Amino acid sequence: MDFNYSPEQEVYRQEVRTWLEANQPPPLTPEEKERIDEDLLWERNKRWHKKLYEHGWAGLNWPKEYGGRGATFIEQVIFQQELGRLGLPMGINVLGIIMTGPALMQWGTDEQKQRYLKPIIMADEIWCEGMSEPGAGSDLASIQTRAELHGDEFIVNGQKVWTTHAHRSDFCQLFVRTDPDVPKHKGMSALLVDMHSPGVVVKPLKQITGDSEFNEIFFEDVRVPKENLLGPLNAGWQVLVNTLMHERFGISETIGGTEVILAQLVEMAQTIPLGGHSAAADDEIRQQIAQFAIEVTAKKYNGLRALSKRLKGQQPGAESSIGKLISTDLSQRMTKFATRLLGGYAMIERKSPFAPEGDWMRRILNVEMLTIAGGTSAVQKNMIGERILQLPKG
Ligand SMILES: Cc1cc2nc3c(=O)[nH]c(=O)nc-3n(C[C@H](O)[C@H](O)[C@H](O)COP(=O)(O)OP(=O)(O)OC[C@H]3O[C@@H](n4cnc5c(N)ncnc54)[C@H](O)[C@@H]3O)c2cc1C
Repeated sequence: MDFNYSPEQEVYRQEVRTWLEANQPPPLTPEEKERIDEDLLWERNKRWHKKLYEHGWAGLNWPKEYGGRGATFIEQVIFQQELGRLGLPMGINVLGIIMTGPALMQWGTDEQKQRYLKPIIMADEIWCEGMSEPGAGSDLASIQTRAELHGDEFIVNGQKVWTTHAHRSDFCQLFVRTDPDVPKHKGMSALLVDMHSPGVVVKPLKQITGDSEFNEIFFEDVRVPKENLLGPLNAGWQVLVNTLMHERFGISETIGGTEVILAQLVEMAQTIPLGGHSAAADDEIRQQIAQFAIEVTAKKYNGLRALSKRLKGQQPGAESSIGKLISTDLSQRMTKFATRLLGGYAMIERKSPFAPEGDWMRRILNVEMLTIAGGTSAVQKNMIGERILQLPKG
């Protein structure tokens, strides 16, 4: 088995690398560092997204007719690897691009594709994913948010929670119960909901980092036109499963970024002094970093397995659960290990002139969420047990 990239793929990688290095956003100015917050980062990221889009790098595997580059899957993977190498974000509207967009392409009517896809990829309209509720997270089939069809409109009532970027969103891919009298998987539907509709109330939730990236959304008699149904009525479970597969694959390929964290740990170990020499001279630290390197390599080869399945034209399957499980757990352990190297400096906030490079305090606090978002580790293990190992259901 040959794990190397082909000469053509390496040429493509070089093209991506050259463009990213020449066009990447400038470092934060001292003035920006002083007043850094979510809004400032969002605006910077938005400018970056526009540049990516103008040069055909946003949603680059999307078909050309919807504003993408029609790139092959492997080209998209190479692009994400190069973004990760430079520590650059994908832009904004990531959930719209990796989740709603593919769902619209699969389930949407021609009118819906025409109306929504281009503004998603251009990030002119921001999307959020309305799945989880206070009583339905891992078990999404239990959702209670109700949509009743009255003439040409659905009337929506209920609550969602943990909705990433709802406070910045123009639309929500919302999963609702449309028939409460049939088994729960069979009475759900997906709606495309305008977040500016009367009756939609968004309440941001404060996170441990101090940021508020996710929200509660309340729906009170919200009117949604019937033509905003995505997929057939009561086929919402199929739309949801498909949308989640895309999310899971996206998370294992992008957010983990374990190769990048490993390189940062190696660099820190070489430069941070410990007991009169560099931390890298300490046996225990060296061995721990070597152990991380082994796990990063194993994760990479599992990623290649999922990749080869996609290259054969198959949809992402349960093996993307392995990718999500490993990359999020490993990212957590590696990020927390940075505190061993940084000592007290790990606790200094990014606005302080004494803060170490790398925004470590925020990352250490934020990393907890990785093994919950997009399906918890326990749930990924269930999927691996049932679908890959064919073990009986728990
Ligand atoms: C940063 C972040 C962003 C998010 N963004 C969004 C978003 O944009 N849209 C959205 O809809 N949701 C979002 N979520 C919600 C996320 O999908 C849920 O938190 C997740 O699916 C878990 O659901 P829950 O929180 O209700 O926990 P629960 O499902 O109540 O689980 C509680 C505990 O029980 C365990 N558990 C549950 N079921 C089983 C089982 N069958 N077997 C073994 N153990 C089990 C879980 O592993 C967990 O430890 C986000 C979450 C986070 C952390």
